[in-house]
Amino acid sequence: MSRRKVWGIEREVLEMINQASRQTHPLEFVAAMRAEDGVIYELVLLPGSISSGGSATFPSFNLPIDLSIVGSVHSHPGPYNEPSEADLHLFSSYGSTHIITCMPYDMSSWRCYDRQGRPVELQVV
Ligand SMILES: [Zn+2]
Repeated sequence: MSRRKVWGIEREVLEMINQASRQTHPLEFVAAMRAEDGVIYELVLLPGSISSGGSATFPSFNLPIDLSIVGSVHSHPGPYNEPSEADLHLFSSYGSTHIITCMPYDMSSWRCYDRQGRPVELQVV
C-alpha cells in the first residue's frame, strides 16, 4: 500500500484545532491546512470565511495561491464528524486532505477524508 502524499499531522496542530473549535462553538471553526514533507504543521486562518450555525463556507475566491496548502479543516458543533453534502462539494473542489472534528473536540473526535469524502488515515506525529 502506498503512502498518501499527506500522511501525518503534528499533535500541536490537532490540539489547536480542538481548542479553536471549542472557542468557536456553537459556530463552526474553519481553516486551511499547510503541510511540508507530507505532514500538516500549520493552520491558515482565512479572512472572510463564514461560520454559521449551519455549515462553514469556504470562500474559494479568498484562498491564497499556495501549493503548501493541502486541504481544509472544520468543526461540527454536534456529535458527528461525517461530511455533509456541502462538505463533499468543498472537498472535491479544493485540496486532497480534509479534517472534520466534532464534539467534544478531543483527540478522538476528528477524522480525515480524501477528496471523495472517503476516510483516510492520518498519523499523529
Ligand atoms: Zn461539515
